[in-house]
Amino acid sequence: MAIIASNFKTNHTRKSTSLFVNEVNDYLKKSGIKNEVYVFPTATSLDTFQTVSNFTIGVQNAYATASGSFTGEIGTSQLDEFEIKTILIGHSERRHILGESQEEITKKYEFYKNLGYKIIYCIGEPLEVKNQGIEKTLEYIYEQFVGIDINYENLILAYEPVWAIGTGVTATNQDIKNVHNAIKVKISKPLLYGGSVKVENVREICQIQNVDGALIGTASWKVEDFIQILENTK
Ligand code: 13P
Repeated sequence: MAIIASNFKTNHTRKSTSLFVNEVNDYLKKSGIKNEVYVFPTATSLDTFQTVSNFTIGVQNAYATASGSFTGEIGTSQLDEFEIKTILIGHSERRHILGESQEEITKKYEFYKNLGYKIIYCIGEPLEVKNQGIEKTLEYIYEQFVGIDINYENLILAYEPVWAIGTGVTATNQDIKNVHNAIKVKISKPLLYGGSVKVENVREICQIQNVDGALIGTASWKVEDFIQILENTK
């Protein structure tokens, strides 16, 4: 049984999210599959999930606050309205494009941990680090655990090499094994792989030892592809 998660990033409108939700929900009801399924839509579409019970909805990001003066951010007083209890933290796009520091990420992690949220915590190295070999790669990744309580009961990890995200370049099975095996020795939490996972390769990736599922961007945005991904991993 795999954990399959879709990260919409900045894609889909409320209307298209609604269609996506209904189709996936119908499929899950009919197929009776046992995969744990997560969807991370844009915050503006959270209300389209209100009648859904067959999968878990999370937010791609939120600030470490209930409410307050943080222009452009959302906090738990808004998330509570949608009964959201799941959050992505440490995604590479937030680290590298939006400039979130490890310190900010740690603060966010502690805040949502203390509220009992399920946290999907993302880690992964950029290409220049990968090119320096596995030792440096692991060193870089371990830095991303500084300040993170790895014993938290509601923690899921996602290894997403930055060079594989949205590039169409998937890590090789050996790349995935190297990192997943090393992390699993230290941290016994579910560990997903993410980075150019596709309909065609998702089954093989999910069958690698120490891969507990996939966190998928691009290939999960078309509902028929997402359903095929669920079919291929059931
Ligand atoms: P892609 O599947 O588009 O490479 O994105 C992966 C990702 O960032 C999921 O969080």
